[in-house]
Amino acid sequence: MSGAPLIELRGIRKSYGGQPRDGAPATEVLRGVSLRIHAGEFVAIVGASGSGKSTLMHILGCLDRASEGQYLFDGRDVGGFDADALAWLRREAFGFVFQGYHLVPTESARENVEIPALYAGMPEAARRERSTTLLSRLGMGTRLDHRPRQLSGGQQQRVAIARALMNGGRIVLADEPTGALDSRSGAEVMALLRELAAQGHTVILITHDREIAAQAPRVIEIRDGQIVADSGEPQEPAAAAADAAIPALAGGEASVAAELRDAMRAAWRVMWGNRFRTGLTLLGIVIGVASVIVMLAVGSGSQNQVMAQMETFGSRTMFVAAMSASSRERGAPLRLDDVGVIESVPNVLAVAPYIEDRVVVRRGGIDHNTEGGGATVAFGKVLRWPVTEGAMFDAADERRAAKVAVIGQTVRKRLFADGSDPVGQDILVDKVPFQVVGVLAAKGSSGGEDQDDRVVVPMSAAVARLYGRPYPSWIAVEIRDRDLASETAAAIEARLAEHRRGKDVRIWNQAEAIRVQTATARTMTVMLGLIAAVSLVVGGIGVMNVMLMTVRERTREIGIRVATGARQRDIQRQFMAEAVLVTAVGGGVGVAAGLITAVGLWLADVPVAFSAAACALAFGCAVLTGLVFGFMPARSAARLDPVLALAGE
Ligand code: ADP
Ligand code: MG
Repeated sequence: MSGAPLIELRGIRKSYGGQPRDGAPATEVLRGVSLRIHAGEFVAIVGASGSGKSTLMHILGCLDRASEGQYLFDGRDVGGFDADALAWLRREAFGFVFQGYHLVPTESARENVEIPALYAGMPEAARRERSTTLLSRLGMGTRLDHRPRQLSGGQQQRVAIARALMNGGRIVLADEPTGALDSRSGAEVMALLRELAAQGHTVILITHDREIAAQAPRVIEIRDGQIVADSGEPQEPAAAAADAAIPALAGGEASVAAELRDAMRAAWRVMWGNRFRTGLTLLGIVIGVASVIVMLAVGSGSQNQVMAQMETFGSRTMFVAAMSASSRERGAPLRLDDVGVIESVPNVLAVAPYIEDRVVVRRGGIDHNTEGGGATVAFGKVLRWPVTEGAMFDAADERRAAKVAVIGQTVRKRLFADGSDPVGQDILVDKVPFQVVGVLAAKGSSGGEDQDDRVVVPMSAAVARLYGRPYPSWIAVEIRDRDLASETAAAIEARLAEHRRGKDVRIWNQAEAIRVQTATARTMTVMLGLIAAVSLVVGGIGVMNVMLMTVRERTREIGIRVATGARQRDIQRQFMAEAVLVTAVGGGVGVAAGLITAVGLWLADVPVAFSAAACALAFGCAVLTGLVFGFMPARSAARLDPVLALAGE
C-alpha cells in the first residue's frame, strides 16, 4: 500500500443560505478545511457544538457536497461523482453511526442491520448469516428480532454499529456515538470502536468531549469551521488491514426482485402499523372497485336475461299480427297472401306465417292438451328452431298437405314417456292421424309459456285438416340488417296497409327492441365507467394524501436509507411499491366485497353475470391508481435532502 491517503480534503468550504429565495443570510459553516486521513487510522474530530463537525462528517460520508474545495477519495475526485456513484460509495465504503442511533422503528434489529446489504444486492441467505454474525459479535445475539423501541440506548447503538459494518464498513463515521448514552454504555461503544480500529477499520469519531476524543490516537480540533489543531498524521501509515479483516463483498446492483420483495414487506409493515388510517383511505378504493363489479354484474346480468328472452327466436326477427288477434277492435285477420306482400319489402330475408290453436294430441291411452301449429318450411330458419331428431317436413309435404308433424320436447316427453323413438310413429292431432317426422330442439320457456309444448304440421295440412281457416295467427319476418329494423317495420306496415286497405296490423319489432337495448347497455357502460373513474380518482387522492403523510412521517427513515447507500430510485421504488400495495389490497378487498354482494343479489334472484374480465379490470384500475397517485409522493421522498431528512425535519 502506498502512502497516499484514503481521504484527502483540500480547502473544503460549506455555506448555507444566501440564496435570494430562502431569505436566510449566507452562513459559512466550514471555512477551508484541509485534512488527510489514511486507511486504518482512528481519528477523533473534536470541537464545540456548532463548530461544523457534523457538516464535515456529512461531506466526508458523501451525504452532502462541499460548496468549494476538493475531496479526494482514494485519489479520485468525489466532486465528479454523480448521485448514483455517491450512493455506491456510501454503500461500499462508509458506515454511519449517529448520536440518535437512527434505526428504522418498524424493522427488527436484524432487518435494520441488513438494510445496507439490501441496496448492495447481497443474496438473502448471505445477508442473514452476516447480520446474525455481526449482531452476535456485538453481544446482540439474543435480540435479533427485537424492534428498536424494545432495546436500550446502548443496544440500539450496537445495532447501528453492526449496520455500519454490514457492507464491510471500511470507514466508520461516528457522530457523537456516545452522546445519548449513559457512561457505562458509552464506554462499551468506545471500546467497540477501538476494537474496530484495531481490526483495521478506518474510524472517524466526532465528539464535543475532549475526554472521549483523547481515546483516539489522533485528535483533530475544529473551531468555527476551521481546523485549529491536529495531533498529526501517523509517521508510518497503519497497514490497511481492514480489507483483509472484512469478508470481501460482491459488489453490484441490488436485484430488483429482492428489493421489491423487501419494499413490499416494509410497505406491508407500515400499512399494518397504521391500519386504521390505511383502512379509511382504502375505503374509497374498496367502494369504487366493489361498486363497479356489482353494477357490471347486475347490469350485464339483466341485459343477458332480456337478450336471452329476446333471442329465443332470433335477434333479427319481427312479428306481424292482426290487430283483431289481441284486441276487441274490429279488423280482418291476416291472410296467406300477406306473406307475399311482406316478402317484397326490402331488407326482408324470409317470412314464416304461423297459424295456431289449442289441440289435443293422443298416443296410445295418453291425451295431452297442447299448442297446435301450422307452419311453412321457413319456420325453422326464421325462428331459429332446428329439428334435432328426424327431419322437418318439406315443400312437397306442404304442397300435398301431408299428415306429418314435428313435435316439441314437452309433447315428446308426454306422449313418448316409454322412451320409444317418436320418429315414424303415428299420433292423433284432434283425432286426425299424423305421422311424427321430427322432434324440435328445446327452446325452454319464453314470455312465461313453455315453447316446447307444441306440435307443428304443414300450414296446408293445418288449414285443410285441423282448423279449416286460412288465417295465420302471426307472421314472423327475418330481416337482413338489424340497424334498418325500424325502417323495415314501417315499410311492412305501409305495404300491408295498402294491400289490406287499412292499417289493421301491429308489428312487434323485436330487432328494434334489441337495438334499443344494446344502445342502452352501451350508455350504461359509459356511465359505469364514469362512476368507476370518479370513485377511483377519489380513492387515488386519498392514497396520495396518505402517502404524502407517510413520506413526511418517515423522512428520517428515508435519510437512514440514503445514508446506508440507497439511490434515489431505490427510495422511489419503495414508496411506489407501498402505494401499489395499498391500492392492490384495496382492489382485492373491493373485488371480494363486490363478488360477495353480487352473490347475495344472485341468491335473492336478481340476475347477475360474473365476469373475470370485469374483476381484473376493476383491480387493474385500482393498482393503476396507486401507480399514478403514488408517483408524486414517491418522487418527493426520493428527492429529500438526506442530511435534512436525517435531522428529521
Ligand atoms: P456541530 O455538529 O459541530 O455541532 P454542525 O455541523 O451541525 O455543528 O453545524 C454547524 C453550523 O452550521 C451550525 O451553526 C448550524 O446552525 C449550521 N447549519 C447546519 N446545517 C445547516 C443547514 N442545513 N442550514 C443552515 N445552517 C446549518
Ligand atoms: Mg453535530
